[in-house]
Amino acid sequence: MDQVARDVFCAEGTAVNWVLVREGRDLTLIDAGYPGDVDALLASIATIGHRPEDVRAVLVTHAHVDHVGALNHLHDHFGTPALMHADEVPNATGERHESATTADVVTRAWRPAVLRWSLAISRAGATRHPVVAHAEAFVSEGPLDLPGGPVPVHLPGHTSGSTAYLLPGAGVVATGDALVTGHPLSPRPGPQLLPEFFDHDRPAARDSLRRLGALDADLVVPGHGLPWRGDLAAAAEQAARLLP
Ligand SMILES: [Zn+2]
Repeated sequence: MDQVARDVFCAEGTAVNWVLVREGRDLTLIDAGYPGDVDALLASIATIGHRPEDVRAVLVTHAHVDHVGALNHLHDHFGTPALMHADEVPNATGERHESATTADVVTRAWRPAVLRWSLAISRAGATRHPVVAHAEAFVSEGPLDLPGGPVPVHLPGHTSGSTAYLLPGAGVVATGDALVTGHPLSPRPGPQLLPEFFDHDRPAARDSLRRLGALDADLVVPGHGLPWRGDLAAAAEQAARLLP
């Protein structure tokens, strides 16, 4: 668990990140790990002196299994809402599937580091497809009425409703998988897109980099990899340069 800015905390589960944003006694949670990360997620809330009841809502960058794992637990026990872009709701409720298959991953699992990662995520529930029946779209444009005043930025490509959340006061943007800084399948750290088979619409993901680069923030907290400090335009350019 790292404090990356004033009142912004980043925690890592099974090679995936989530973000806690604090305002007074209230929290916004951005993303929710794998199903097997529920205990780690609850521990991360306790580490900063909070209770799960303090989470006003979970903002979802996209509804892949590694980002929605604790949503049902939080909703069932604490009534926590799960909010996302309207285009992402069908991915969360199971009406639509825009994700890599287990076969996509397994065919690449010949390197030891990849194999270790495949086993770890399988144990964390990667082959499950949690149905998030309570998924709802955020209603407004502009800042949401939640701790930290997060501003959704629609970045389609990885999935149709992929969304980054800009925290204007902190100069932080949580990018989910629209931009990552590392991944067990990647040979190098730094701003980049995930391997192409993870993206639903690669050309759209590439276009979304431009919109991301225009944001006013100097810290990227990605879905995978370490937080990255620097100019957003430079991060977007670096990721675009690596593309074939
Ligand atoms: Zn992910």
